[in-house]
Amino acid sequence: MSSPEILPVSESRRWKYLDNVRTRPGAFVDPDEFDGSTVVDNMNKIKIFGAGGLGCEILKNLALSGFKDISIIDMDTIDISNLNRQFLFRHADVGKFKAEVAAKFVERRVKGVKITPYNCKIQDFDEDFYLQFQIVVCGLDSIEARRWINATLINMVNPENPDSMKPLIDGGTEGFKGQARVILPTMGSCIECQLDMHAPRAAVPLCTLASIPRQPEHCIEWAHVIAWDKEKPFPQLDKDDPEHITWLYQKALERAKEFNISGVTYSLTQGVVKNIIPAIAATNSVIAAACCNEALKIASSCAPFLGTPGDGEPNYMMYSGNDSIYTYTFKHEQKEDCPVCGMTARVLKVNPKWTLEELIESFATLPEAQLKKPSIRAEGKTLYMQLPPSLEEQTRPNLSKTLEELGLTAGTEIAVTDPAFLGVVFNFSLRFA
Ligand SMILES: [Zn+2]
Repeated sequence: MSSPEILPVSESRRWKYLDNVRTRPGAFVDPDEFDGSTVVDNMNKIKIFGAGGLGCEILKNLALSGFKDISIIDMDTIDISNLNRQFLFRHADVGKFKAEVAAKFVERRVKGVKITPYNCKIQDFDEDFYLQFQIVVCGLDSIEARRWINATLINMVNPENPDSMKPLIDGGTEGFKGQARVILPTMGSCIECQLDMHAPRAAVPLCTLASIPRQPEHCIEWAHVIAWDKEKPFPQLDKDDPEHITWLYQKALERAKEFNISGVTYSLTQGVVKNIIPAIAATNSVIAAACCNEALKIASSCAPFLGTPGDGEPNYMMYSGNDSIYTYTFKHEQKEDCPVCGMTARVLKVNPKWTLEELIESFATLPEAQLKKPSIRAEGKTLYMQLPPSLEEQTRPNLSKTLEELGLTAGTEIAVTDPAFLGVVFNFSLRFA
């Protein structure tokens, strides 16, 4: 199906109502400080970056909100199952890269917009890449990817250079629920500060996975965390490689049979491993719309945006359609002990009789840590390292020692790192419970 021809005359009229909104000051804007005549020009120059599962919605909204230079990133190719809600794709596009097809479609429909597609992961780029944008809009479907972009944007902030501060607009949905938030890196609460808003999913202690699985998810996590490490069927797990997922699925299935557990399927395996959250098309629309309106307000200053700096200004909107409809907008406070944007170590209550292994396992389920492969140092001494293998072997004997035996006392500061968040050190100050 091809898009209908757009006549030049209707194309110029397309922006009439948008321009009414963005070139006039909103009711809460100081009209003396707002210069509507510069807005369109400024917005034409803004480079904006979009990523994630809300992709079609975000891209369509940004293009129709007057952004002209948009970059999008998505590593996936189009699957037939996407066609029910990802409306920029057609049957003939199955198998092609999502970012590329979406970019072409919207460029064809909205004249004058330039869309640069990248068929890869957000983690494939470094700070130099993200520095070119003025606004980042993410509708990512994994908390890991969110935490990564959050930490990257915060590390990029250079107090000498105001342009290094990139507003991050984050939207996410889970079934009928969702949230939209604006993060001004280092100036307010960040995604890591707000981590406890996301309850850890499927974080099961290793001992349960290893000895007494009860649910299909436990078998999948066992294949993911234990069998993969032991057998290393491929050098590195690529969660987007169907061959890798198939390997995990087969392993999980064998284990499920052994323990008489039913329900392990390929798509559940993919869901657990990638931590995929069920998507409802219209919830995605609501949340993506909220995010893109904030982008428009940040870019034009036509109205105060969510996360506007100031006392008590809200930065977080939650939306729930689980029981009728409810929305609530509030200020999530920056945490002094945030491992990414804070200054002090976070207090961690532990039992001195715990072994180091038990401490390490606790990081997976701890709401404010959610680290699956933590390595630990204490006061300059390495207690346990997941990588490289030689160091892992060398530090492994510590796993069975108790915290007391390792000389950890109340007030000891430990530094925790995880391969999913390179460059981020989570500092904790121990308290004995
Ligand atoms: Zn923070």
